[in-house]
Amino acid sequence: MADVIASKAPPEGIAARLAAVQRRVAEAAARAGRDAAAVALLAVSKRHPADAVRAAYAAGQRTFGENYVQELALKAEALRELPGIRWHLIGHLQRNKAKQVVPWVTRVSSVDSPRVAEALSAPAERLGRHVEVLVEVNLAAEASKAGCAPSELGALLAHIEALPGLKLMGLMAIPPAGQAAELTRGHFEALAALQREHGGAARLPELSMGMSDDLELAIEAGSTEVRVGTAIFGARGS
Ligand SMILES: *Cc1c(COP(=O)(O)O)cnc(C)c1O
Repeated sequence: MADVIASKAPPEGIAARLAAVQRRVAEAAARAGRDAAAVALLAVSKRHPADAVRAAYAAGQRTFGENYVQELALKAEALRELPGIRWHLIGHLQRNKAKQVVPWVTRVSSVDSPRVAEALSAPAERLGRHVEVLVEVNLAAEASKAGCAPSELGALLAHIEALPGLKLMGLMAIPPAGQAAELTRGHFEALAALQREHGGAARLPELSMGMSDDLELAIEAGSTEVRVGTAIFGARGS
């Protein structure tokens, strides 16, 4: 895991790509008649070195998303001197890793079961803080994907609200990859419909949807946070 901390070469072009993504967000918001300030940009730095995060931070980015607990903890520790930097876990969380991630994150965007919610709440409570939580919804009932079924959402939301270490913030989804734009749009609209059904923006202010390839569609459908990796940091390789 040392290579996620040390980079071989200075990450070129990150500031320019970040600015281009900010422009895409602003233009999509304008087309949708929305305020661009209502759409946050989460920079997804998974499998990119800490120096890449540093470059984006130097260009003004403050909130970063990671998929894996160990990688998040290593980078967050390596960059802990950067004032105001925030980390969101956006990848599937196993219960036995919850305690390890709590000290480093402001938000976990991938809670999908009561048991994971409980595993996060307990260490947060011991530290005297709240972890913000998004519930990941498996919109297309994909067997390969994590996420709460829409039919179980109501019960899970109520459970999270009853846990003292968590602060319920909203919903997150990753639509099936490689689909036609109209199908992807349908999934984003389905997540927005679930938000309305379960208390609207008053209860669920955050709607985290949209990535490098489809952030415009997501913003048109009401996204309040796009999660962008490749378009900022370049290809991840394998
Ligand atoms: C990797 C990832 C992203 C970013 O995807 P890009 O296509 O690189 O922008 C966003 N959300 C989640 C949950 C991810 O795992």
